[in-house]
Amino acid sequence: MQSSKTKSPATLPDNIPGNNQDKEVSRTECVRCGVCCTKGGPTLHLEDIGAFKDSSVKRSDLYTMRKGETVFNNIEGKPSVLSEEIIKIKGTGESYSCSFYDPDQKACAIYANRPIECRVLKCWDTKDLEAIFEKNRLQRKHLIPPDTVIAEAIAGHEQRCSYSTIETLVKKMGGSETSEAVEKFLELLQFDHHLRPFIAKKLELPIEEMDFFFGRPLTTTIKMFGLQVKQNGDAFLLTPIEKGIGEFGN
Ligand code: SF4
Repeated sequence: MQSSKTKSPATLPDNIPGNNQDKEVSRTECVRCGVCCTKGGPTLHLEDIGAFKDSSVKRSDLYTMRKGETVFNNIEGKPSVLSEEIIKIKGTGESYSCSFYDPDQKACAIYANRPIECRVLKCWDTKDLEAIFEKNRLQRKHLIPPDTVIAEAIAGHEQRCSYSTIETLVKKMGGSETSEAVEKFLELLQFDHHLRPFIAKKLELPIEEMDFFFGRPLTTTIKMFGLQVKQNGDAFLLTPIEKGIGEFGN
């Protein structure tokens, strides 16, 4: 959402928020429809670090998408696998709508300090967004001092629960190594699940910051591998999203 003007009207690309009809839409300025803000929070860049200094944006407002996660690429208009981690502003509840968007006012709660992607986005002309989209992306290392307990915890989590490790385990399921792969996978799910409240308590950090420190929970992201988790007390049951392949549990 922004308000700068351009002289040349253009047809909105299919993959850009605001183009929710098949017909041509020509626009020369932001009309504060809010569609871009309801399609998902922005990815942050190094230029956005200032917003942390005045506390406009806090760690609890963010989540990390880790290397190897599948993300919908708004520029390419299709899913792609992240070659490096990114940090995004959380959605509201279960929706994609940016947590800073006020639908009643159709306004951004941090408008003066809104992230650079929001400042350059013109839904009728995306070249400014495309120019910065993959540059200077913010990562956890830019916000967390090295040699701290939390930095070590993140490194340990990343080493144990990387998406390349998980992908290797998933590929083994269905073959002769299925039971070992499932057992190892369930161990990682349990580790990821219990690490978050443990670290929050040990370091006296809000639990809401854990999706920034450790990325979204594996119990959520494993859907990209066609799997889902059902919890039964302390036990996890791993089930394929497609029916007919069977269930795995611990
Ligand atoms: S930060 Fe503000 S302008 Fe950017 S998507 Fe969220 S509500 Fe919209």
